[in-house]
Amino acid sequence: MAHSTVSQFSVAVPTGNDISLRRSVLKRNIVSFGNKSWASNLSFDLKSRNAQKSNQYIVCMSVQQASKSKVGVSPLELEAEKEPPLNLFKPKEPYTATIVSVERLVGPKAPGETCHIVIDHGGNVPYWEGQSYGVIPPGENPKKPGSPHNVRLYSIASTRYGDSFDGKTASLCVRRAVYYDPETGKEDPSKSGICSNFLCNSKPGDKVQITGPSGKIMLLPEDNPNANHIMIATGTGVAPFRGYLRRMFMEDVTFKFRGLAWLFLGVANSDSLLYDEEFSKYLEDYPDQFRYDRALSREQKNKSGGKMYVQDKIEEYSDEIFKLLDEGAHIYFCGLRGMMPGIQDTLKRVAEQRGENWDEKLSQLKKNKQWHVEVY
Ligand code: FAD
Repeated sequence: MAHSTVSQFSVAVPTGNDISLRRSVLKRNIVSFGNKSWASNLSFDLKSRNAQKSNQYIVCMSVQQASKSKVGVSPLELEAEKEPPLNLFKPKEPYTATIVSVERLVGPKAPGETCHIVIDHGGNVPYWEGQSYGVIPPGENPKKPGSPHNVRLYSIASTRYGDSFDGKTASLCVRRAVYYDPETGKEDPSKSGICSNFLCNSKPGDKVQITGPSGKIMLLPEDNPNANHIMIATGTGVAPFRGYLRRMFMEDVTFKFRGLAWLFLGVANSDSLLYDEEFSKYLEDYPDQFRYDRALSREQKNKSGGKMYVQDKIEEYSDEIFKLLDEGAHIYFCGLRGMMPGIQDTLKRVAEQRGENWDEKLSQLKKNKQWHVEVY
């Protein structure tokens, strides 16, 4: 049961144009209501704290607050369009955006590095949850001298309002692509991924050429607010789902979600978990509407004693998942391409054990637009 309390809290009303300042104000003042905090949990841009001036930004107000307060967003015109924005900026004429912050998301024991990158697009490159931006890294394409690099796509990890709730930023969740020599097993920096390293090495204020937004496959269907959504992610594949979940549980928007959101996240170990505190907070605040299952391949064992992958979690909960799918739930898969064969094999095996024909079921799911896959 949700309790209602009247509480007093501070709302930041920034008046300047400084986005980093606005963000830090928002974080520090809206994050906690009483003993509740919605936990953005990303210590953005600590430097801007020094820049924060007096209390001129703070307004106090009393509100009738449900225990699950949501954050106000603007501009609400971003709710008005019937169709998602598509390819507003093309590779020949990209938009020059500015890096706001780059933050390492993973702990010291994570293999590799994944960063949360906030980009200021000034409201000029609007997008919907589940879409991607293209990024053109600086420099020359080695395969086409004199030409820029090819565009790399990145799923957007924020809602259309961005992490500062003002519709001016987009966040990406980027894993550095590194190359290990198969013979020596050592990293070869000369073969590091160009765009992911450019993004993870960038600094606040750096410029970044972006294209898009693109993609319709992973848009969150909002026609039925009671619909259920099963999200299967490996690694950075969690990006679109972070956007969905913020829209469902964090932001006060026209979409009033009343269904179940169930996230399965597969990573190597607990240090590799992404946005874990943010998701854990939804578990506390929305226990009837959110489920969150983690598969840590290098830390947990599946029932046969092997590594725990997302498909093992899918198998564990297959009765519930199949029931939800039969009732019309959407299922989404996002992450490395290699995740799909193991998942498909598991779903097929489970279906057969249940006396169902997986191929028929899959084509029905696709026909009903319940099946959404974006792997790379
Ligand atoms: P590249 O420079 O393109 O290199 C690619 C790979 O080749 C690297 O692993 C590199 O180490 C290796 N390599 C380089 N030189 C050599 C050589 N000489 N020999 C052998 N190997 C070599 N990625 C994310 O991190 N987060 C996302 O949210 C995300 N979303 C995506 C969404 C979509 C729809 C798609 C299609 C892709 C997405 N990607 C995402 C992947 C992303 O687009 C890039 O492919 C990825 O970041 C690697 O690009 P890069 O420029 O860093 O590497």
